[in-house]
Formats: sequence, structure tokens, C-alpha cells
Amino acid sequence: MSLLNFPCRLLAALAAALKMATLAIAAEVPFFTDNGYGNPVSSLQHPAAEHYQGVTYVAYQGPHEDPYVAAYNHATGKWTGPVQAGVNLMGKSPDQIDPSELDNHGKPALVIDRKGYIHLVFGSHGGDPKFGKNPLGEFFMGTKGKMTHVVSQKPGDISAWRVVDNLPPFGTYNQWVKFPSGDLYLFYRHGGHRSDWVYQKSTNDGLTFSAPVSVLKHKVSSASPAINDSWYAWFEPGLGETITASYVYHPCANPKHNAHRQNVYFMQMNARDGNWTNVQGDRLTLPVTKESADRFTLIEATGTVRSTHGTCHVDANGYPHVAFPVGRDIRYYRWDGKAWQKPVSVGAGHGRVGDGDFIVDSPLSVRMILSTEHDGDNEIGWWNTEDGGLTWTKGNILISSKVLSFGTTAIVRNAHPDAVMLLGSRDATEPHLYRRMFLVGARGPLGRLAAEASQLGDRLEAIKSLPPPNRAKAEAKKKKKLGLDDEDP
Ligand code: ZN
Repeated sequence: MSLLNFPCRLLAALAAALKMATLAIAAEVPFFTDNGYGNPVSSLQHPAAEHYQGVTYVAYQGPHEDPYVAAYNHATGKWTGPVQAGVNLMGKSPDQIDPSELDNHGKPALVIDRKGYIHLVFGSHGGDPKFGKNPLGEFFMGTKGKMTHVVSQKPGDISAWRVVDNLPPFGTYNQWVKFPSGDLYLFYRHGGHRSDWVYQKSTNDGLTFSAPVSVLKHKVSSASPAINDSWYAWFEPGLGETITASYVYHPCANPKHNAHRQNVYFMQMNARDGNWTNVQGDRLTLPVTKESADRFTLIEATGTVRSTHGTCHVDANGYPHVAFPVGRDIRYYRWDGKAWQKPVSVGAGHGRVGDGDFIVDSPLSVRMILSTEHDGDNEIGWWNTEDGGLTWTKGNILISSKVLSFGTTAIVRNAHPDAVMLLGSRDATEPHLYRRMFLVGARGPLGRLAAEASQLGDRLEAIKSLPPPNRAKAEAKKKKKLGLDDEDP
């Protein structure tokens, strides 16, 4: 029977149903909230999200640079939150519209303990002298918040939070490593950029932590009194009870600061005895200095070409695979058991490539999520290799837009295939700093009803009275920062 043969009343009913369906689709949006703020996520503060017992929990920087948490239930397809989980002392009120007024370093890292309680650490860029002397680092560029630890009041419930005052206030670039046993390691830089990178271990679900242990040492350079040795590092579980560290060197100009970073390094910890070794298995003396890093842990010297902290995962042999942004490339390195394979630029020739993260399926098979920009298309998509990283082919696109660009995170811990990465987005035409947040996976972005995703309330009204960003002031600030982005210093 053709449509023409339909009785009129049935046709009308069909049309009404179609219209309703269209309206329902129109009311769905691909983002889960519009109240990300500034640079709401990064791959450095990680993980930003974890999948636990059928729910993916995500954390990001929201209004006032405070930490916000939302949760997606994979069985019901429903979102809860976002909920404000704490207060970032670096936040300004009202919310700002000038990006240079934001610090952006106090983003939350999230972990879920054995009992299902959700923990966040956030809120500092070196801490504040009013909290006391920093024994393992320096303050830098004024007062910079307080590292803050909050825990959900109930397991698996994001609705209410409490502060747990059990960590030093100085930490920056907080990162959680969790073992299958439930042991937690919190890694971070113990202060401003001239500070040691340390970890603290908790064997009781974050109730107490061991004293900080310095892993990478900051000091005046042996090469020149005008340079301070400084680092940017990324920590992740390795094979068994090991933790990997992939890192870059920052030769910080003394007494000022500069943006340069160089070289790429790797080392690992045996968590059973706390000993660190290089990739060949030679024991390292802690904290690792520039001299011993160069001698024992260097993957590649990049010289004047700028490198940035990367991501690292191991294969079934425990061998590391590492990806670092170097110059304009994402360089992939693989340890084959004897040597580092010659680095390969992933996504080369596909426009501007931004940092991402990856999954090692086997020593030769790796899937990487990259952000690329090509002919005005901003894309987050998979890149795959089946030959150990020698060649890469473009895979499925997770999300793309001509209007929005996307900021990436580390891959969701224990990720469900439908939710592998949390993304912040930016619409360069919007005059405010609020960002739509996306959770993407095999089915694209996991959206929700527009009314639920609309979380700004009267915030757009509240910031209307602010003066427009002062270009001269912004330029001066930019000059002072020497082109640093918000991962610096
Ligand atoms: Zn510096």
C-alpha cells in the first residue's frame, strides 16, 4: 500500500507522530552540560573520568574554576548532574569573560576507591605561602590556591561531597594511579614549576597518605646558574605492580621563566619495593636529576624543538608505548625489548594535530585518539596501527565540528566502549568562557535533553556587566607569559 492510499485521518496521525518525533530529536543535544569554564579539561590532570559498575563518572572545571562532576548510567542512558563538588580558591567572582583572568591549573583529577567513593583532587597552582613553607619546591607568580581533596559522601553518589584535609596544599598537575588491589598513588608537582614531582601512596582508600616521595628533582642547572632544571611528567599504571613515568625537561630561565621544553624521557617504578628503573631495567637513584635523566632515561633529545608532556601505556610484555607532542607532530615511540623504535609522526599531513591518548591492544596493534584540524573541520577520531606504529590509518570519527574545537583528556579509566573520552569544546565566536562538555565513544557523543544540559542559569546575565576583555592588558600579559599556554608554568 502506498502512502497515497492511506486514509486521511491516519495520514494526519502519522504526520503528528513524525512532528513529535522531530521535536523530541530537536530537544536532544550532543553535550551533557554547557557549564564547562575556561580550559575545563586537560590530559595532564588525569584521569578526568572513570567507568565503575556501569556508570561513567566525569570531572571538569566549571564556573568559578570549581570542580564539577556528572555521571552517565550506561544501562538507562541517563545522565545525573553536573554537581559542584568543591571550591577552587583560585576562582574569581563573578565568572570572568577575559581568558587571561583564569588560572586553569586547578582542574580536577578523579578516582573511585574500592568501596565506590569518588575522590577528586584539584585547586592548586603551587599553593600559597600563607599555608607554610614548601619543603620540596617554590612558589611562583603570586598566590595560587590550595590542593584540595574531596570525597563523595556516599559510594557511587555524586550529589554530596566533603573535604578531606589530608594532603599538602602545594600540589599541581594532580594525577591518580590506581592498582587492581585498590592501592592509590597520587602524583603531582609539589609547588610552582621549580618543584619536585612527587607521589603519595594510600592503602586505605584515601583516608591517609604516605609522606611525599620525590621522583624528579628540581634544582639549579649544573650547566648554568641562569637555568633551573624543571619537569612535566605523566604517570600511569604499567604491567603488574609497576607505574610508568613519561616526561619532558623544562630549562627554566633564572630568575624569569620561559616556555621552552625539550627531550622525551621514560622510566618506571616497581611499586612492590618503590625502586625506579630505566627501560633497560637499570636501577635509578631518587630523585632523578637532569644528569641521570639524560644519561639513563632519555628516549630522544629534541634540542630546540619543543616537546610537551605525553601519554604512555604498556603492552602485554610490559614494554612502553609513548606518544609526545613534539614540534607540530604527535610522535609515537615504542620499546621493542631492545631499543626505542624510530619515532613516527601520527596523523602527519592531516592538518594541525593536537594531543590525545591511546589504547595498546597488542605490541603491534594500537588505537590512538587524536584531535585534528583540517580545512576548518575540527575532528576527534581514532588512528590505528597494526604494524607496531610504523604506519597509521585513520579510523572512525568520534565527533567533528566546524564551529566547535575540542580539548581532549586522557582516556577514561576502565572505559566503556561508548564513553572513552571526555572533551571540552570552544566556540571562538562566543563572547564568554563557558564550554559545552562532551563524552564520546563508539556511538558518538552521549547527549541528553537540552533542558537538562542547560546548566548556566542566570550566569550569562551575571557577567553582562563585566567590561570587555582589555586587549592592551591581554597583550601585556601575553608578553609577560612569553607565549605560555595554560599548562605553563
Ligand atoms: Zn619555568
